[in-house]
Amino acid sequence: MSLPTRIALGVALAGGAGAALTRRRATQPRSGPGHRTETEADYRTADHRVLILGGGFGGIATALELDRRLRDVPGTSVLIVDRDADLLYTPLLWTVADGRANPSHVVVPIRALQRGRSFHVLHADVTGIDLDAREVRTSAGSRPYDHLVIALGSLTAIPDLPGLRDRALRFATPSDALELRNHLIQAVEAAHGATDPAERDAYLTFVVGGGGDTGIELAATIHEYLTQGLLEEYPWLADAPLRIVVVGRADRLVPMSSPRTSDSVRRVLEEEGIEVLTGASIDGATETAVLTSKGEIPARTLFWAAGITAPEVVRSLPVEHARNGAVMVDDRLLLHDHPEVAVIGDCAWAFSADDGQPVPPTAQAAEHQGRYIGRAIAARIVDPASRPAPFRFKTKGRLALLGSGTGVAEVGGLTFSGLPAWALWHGYYLSRIPSWRNRLRLATDWLLAAVTGRETTQLRLNPPTALGQGADLAPAGKRDLAQGETTTQGQASAIG
Ligand SMILES: Cc1cc2nc3c(=O)[nH]c(=O)nc-3n(C[C@H](O)[C@H](O)[C@H](O)COP(=O)(O)OP(=O)(O)OC[C@H]3O[C@@H](n4cnc5c(N)ncnc54)[C@H](O)[C@@H]3O)c2cc1C
Repeated sequence: MSLPTRIALGVALAGGAGAALTRRRATQPRSGPGHRTETEADYRTADHRVLILGGGFGGIATALELDRRLRDVPGTSVLIVDRDADLLYTPLLWTVADGRANPSHVVVPIRALQRGRSFHVLHADVTGIDLDAREVRTSAGSRPYDHLVIALGSLTAIPDLPGLRDRALRFATPSDALELRNHLIQAVEAAHGATDPAERDAYLTFVVGGGGDTGIELAATIHEYLTQGLLEEYPWLADAPLRIVVVGRADRLVPMSSPRTSDSVRRVLEEEGIEVLTGASIDGATETAVLTSKGEIPARTLFWAAGITAPEVVRSLPVEHARNGAVMVDDRLLLHDHPEVAVIGDCAWAFSADDGQPVPPTAQAAEHQGRYIGRAIAARIVDPASRPAPFRFKTKGRLALLGSGTGVAEVGGLTFSGLPAWALWHGYYLSRIPSWRNRLRLATDWLLAAVTGRETTQLRLNPPTALGQGADLAPAGKRDLAQGETTTQGQASAIG
């Protein structure tokens, strides 16, 4: 890491710490008594039962807002149901994948956010929602509700095209971030062992499907991990041609942002040597090639970051859905025939009342929706006749991490790139992750990586996948995952 980048990292960390201090009141546990446990009977007999499905960005923001507004109003019980006990802070996952951060440092235990607050968590899988009976089925039994907030997020959608579901790798969780590193190590090892130059080049070619926010950061992360970490340890591959290609269907990258930002992103990626193929679709994949509408790319690796779908439990609701399975909501984020049910975050299809534009599937939007719906439910509990103003959302800005010491930022109508964008990215997200413990650990991880280098050990999460000549690069676990929509994880436990 160059000296200017190290100085920028120091400034970013200091900025992040300063910004975090100013928002401490909003995210840190209040001082005062610890969390009080609630039994199932307490929940069932409460006057107002607010059930929140999903403890991610939207669900947690809803619970925090309800706590702020209703903590002195007796008779209300707020219960989050989630299969995981933690909030995954996805924007920072890139620093796990690029070998600078420990995976557990981008995950915040929900119980840390519960301390001193009045909401509760049921650790269970949501298996069904009965809108007429006003009841949710979970792996820990059913729960009735008076107000329901569905915030179950989304899954990566891989289209049913030849070879795609078998071969495409996804990127959404800490284990995916570790798998990405493992996979790159395997690919480099296979390239090292290949005797045929064409085969070696195919092992060193990485295609990313999707030219949106995730696709561009994924391509840049692959490039950064290889050039700034892994390949330094394989000097005999120094002259081998490394090829990373981003394929986007739209005619420009990050089409939801301004054309100037799209141009900046393309310029930064191309300066790094990443190829950009826009206006192209991926039509399939074989063991040795990715098939695009603009020709075949000899490659052994395909990552998929083009599109999301709602979880099955949301898709199966008997209401109106968008094409990706998200639920269509009204201008107050409520179901048309069930005003006691709100749907927010990635699994909602909503529009902003300001400009009529669709609300994007981002953490920023999910948190905004969570605060809005928390306010609306609190107001309705205090005054049943209350009716909130329609939901409004305007993106605060966009930040993309595009490599070592570079990125692109779009803030307040301004677009800038390079080191300032990179520093802003680190400072902003460090200030936003809602835990001082995580902030300190991440800052230490990044500083240590700047001094001692990135993590390049291969930690196997699945049974070893043999990878020799012509072997399949997709780990077995991933191939299985690509077939279905959800995995079952998490055991039912008592209300905490
Ligand atoms: C790699 C990556 C990087 C990203 N970077 C950014 C970024 O920089 N900025 C940004 O704004 N957005 C970013 N996003 C998008 C952002 O993560 C999502 O938009 C956001 O998480 C959506 O919030 P949510 O509350 O709808 O869902 P989530 O935060 O995904 O929460 C859903 C919750 O529901 C739980 N759940 C799901 N199904 C069930 C079930 N059946 N039973 C029990 N629990 C269930 C899950 O465990 C999860 O906790 C990124 C996403 C990815 C994958």
